Amino acid sequence: MSDDRVVVALDVGGTGMKCALVRPDGVVIRTERHPTDAARGPAAVVGTILEVAGGLADKARADGLTPIAVGIAVPGVVDEARGVAVWSANVGFRDVPLRDLTVTRLGLPTALGHDVRVGGLAEARLGAGRGTGHVLFVAIGTGIAAAHVVDGTAAVGSHGAAGEIGHILVRPDGPRCGCGRPGCLEAVSSAAAIGRRYAQLAGGTADAPVTAAEVAERAAAGEPLAGRVWQEAIEALADGLASGQALFDVATIVLGGGLAQAGDRLLTPLRAALHERMTFHREPQLVAAALGDEAGCLGAALLALDAVSVRDPQEKR
Ligand SMILES: [Zn+2]
Repeated sequence: MSDDRVVVALDVGGTGMKCALVRPDGVVIRTERHPTDAARGPAAVVGTILEVAGGLADKARADGLTPIAVGIAVPGVVDEARGVAVWSANVGFRDVPLRDLTVTRLGLPTALGHDVRVGGLAEARLGAGRGTGHVLFVAIGTGIAAAHVVDGTAAVGSHGAAGEIGHILVRPDGPRCGCGRPGCLEAVSSAAAIGRRYAQLAGGTADAPVTAAEVAERAAAGEPLAGRVWQEAIEALADGLASGQALFDVATIVLGGGLAQAGDRLLTPLRAALHERMTFHREPQLVAAALGDEAGCLGAALLALDAVSVRDPQEKR
């Protein structure tokens, strides 16, 4: 079969959109970035999404390529079956039928996905989980969310809300979570929570807001307070991941998001803490994500390819 086929992929975040044309074998042949500028309101953001997607399809055709489908990843609650962006805090979507709007505007089959789930899909099929079948992808940034990928498909859940590992209860007496309950994993171990906890314990001595990356650095340099905050976060994260492993029995846990950039400062103590929690469970491999911030865009491309049943025969599963 001739392979001039490409899909149009967009990963829409709170501040920016990462966009690409991707071939069926996963090779990216053009990338673009555009500001989301969510303050303009959801209608304007939808307008930009359609414009950018249409522009990429036109550029593909101008280069002699054939766009065959569109994949769009968005944050928040996403009804993938209906193609509706149900709710998002940072982009402001409320029941936006993004798939149908795109089909109408571009005349191409379109798939809509959740940003973390498609990121997990990409890591499982093309990145750090490649070839291992059952993968739990955990993105740790401002919040914590996960995707459980089995043989190349991410579980969506009955209500589009699977993977909310950030809201597993790990510390009943812990800090209150953004969801309203105390002690959720993301209230203790997210990058935002680590920064907050450090500032709280440092009291007046904290010169400026300290990021989780800085806490990791200070901990490695031997600062006792940073060491304590970092270890508390790791112990709670190990509790959350151990629950994940009890539920899903995966071969590989892939850690992504900003906190994973701490690399071995995170992975080495976390592997040890997870190991302590394994009784009869099979211990998963714990690895850092490989695709960086391109994972969402690549995952959107995979969703688009899946929507038209085009899968690279070389892809390891
Ligand atoms: Zn919560």
